Amino acid sequence: MSISTNSNSPRVLISGGGIGGNAVALQLVRAGIRATVVERAAAPRPGGQAVDLRGPSRDVAERMGLMPGIKSRQLDERGMLYVDDEGRETLRMPAELFEGKGGVAEIEITRGDLNEVLLEALAKEGGVDYRYGEWITDARQDAAGVEITFASGAVERFDILVGADGLHSATRRLVFGPEEDFATYLGGYMSFFTMPTPEGTEPHWFSMHSLVGGTGIGLRPDADPATSKAIIMLRTAADPALRRDVQAQQQFIRERLADGGWHSATISAAMTEAEDFYFDELARIDMPSWVSGRVALVGDAGYCGSPLTGQGTAMALVGAYVLAGEIATHATDPERALTRYEEVLRPFVAKAQELPPGGLRSMTPKTRFGIRVGHAVSRLMTTKAMKPLMMRMLTATESYELPDYPTRSVA
Ligand SMILES: Cc1cc2nc3c(=O)[nH]c(=O)nc-3n(C[C@H](O)[C@H](O)[C@H](O)COP(=O)(O)OP(=O)(O)OC[C@H]3O[C@@H](n4cnc5c(N)ncnc54)[C@H](O)[C@@H]3O)c2cc1C
Repeated sequence: MSISTNSNSPRVLISGGGIGGNAVALQLVRAGIRATVVERAAAPRPGGQAVDLRGPSRDVAERMGLMPGIKSRQLDERGMLYVDDEGRETLRMPAELFEGKGGVAEIEITRGDLNEVLLEALAKEGGVDYRYGEWITDARQDAAGVEITFASGAVERFDILVGADGLHSATRRLVFGPEEDFATYLGGYMSFFTMPTPEGTEPHWFSMHSLVGGTGIGLRPDADPATSKAIIMLRTAADPALRRDVQAQQQFIRERLADGGWHSATISAAMTEAEDFYFDELARIDMPSWVSGRVALVGDAGYCGSPLTGQGTAMALVGAYVLAGEIATHATDPERALTRYEEVLRPFVAKAQELPPGGLRSMTPKTRFGIRVGHAVSRLMTTKAMKPLMMRMLTATESYELPDYPTRSVA
């Protein structure tokens, strides 16, 4: 269906076609607002592990009419499993232990598949000006709008600029200041990629293994049982040489996985063949404001909590829904719309950005003794006595009241 946009409606530029950017674009076109998306990559970026939808992010997915697409790609993941060097089970945590609100949630979908659901919905709506292989190189605001210079050399004016360009956001750098002003390094790196499922992997379970030295490796079910999503957590000091250097990143992983037991050798070998190898530092973004005049940041660009929170996609989806809702509500007053976006969303983000106790340290012990203690603590967390405390932690964002924005039916 093609949506007719109102030529008096604001013209919104979205930098970044990830979960946050595509969700904003979708809600804007549905409200009849003109949206342009620029995505630096040449095509939709595949890859990413299972992301979970619970509480407010699930509500948003439902309100956006995304659930049929999500359900058709939903993963059959039944819980988490810890294994030792030989692959013997040391701890099993079924998803129902925490009523589908723990490490494995009731609804899990890979990040790449969720992005595909959003892109399909956008294609169905029509009307979005989508440009791959393009990015912004300058943004200048005045009283009437934002003048954007693109990498292609084009210069265009928009009423609002939305930075949805991830942890290393260019919009944040151009409008708010350098990344160092807002980022806190959380003690390590994470890598994700797709690989053939190694023989002996238990189907439908997220298997994790700790290596001495502060490394965690895991395999998560993929939509296709022949493939799995590899996950690698590496506790280490920050190393600028690893930024954007895939060779250096893979060499670092190879060294950390050497003699690591379980499937470490297979995972290490599969990494070089992976088409969706992803590696980034674990960092948190804290900003006094995500808004400056007619520019707003959404998702990781403004309030990354890192994959350690398990809430990155939730924050991007809920943030996108609120941002688009406020722009549609205050269509003639962009600055008011963006201020409201920040006011309405802050309480949700404050809770969603909270790290699990101990952060990366507790997930990647350095010694055999530390690994044993970690398992004992995890076992304790699964006891009946600890359940109320665990449930309080796991449902911290669920009390957030999602605002209602009038939207036409998307069923
Ligand atoms: C390929 C990939 C795999 C991921 N895998 C996982 C995972 O397994 N687990 C997890 O917890 N999180 C993962 N993440 C991060 C996760 O997607 C986010 O935390 C969350 O979904 C919030 O999304 P976002 O839209 O704010 O940011 P992102 O998902 O990072 O999306 C940002 C988008 O902006 C684009 N971009 C970057 N710079 C520019 C620029 N200058 N101009 C235009 N476009 C730009 C990027 O290519 C990307 O498409 C992954 C991100 C990516 C990009």
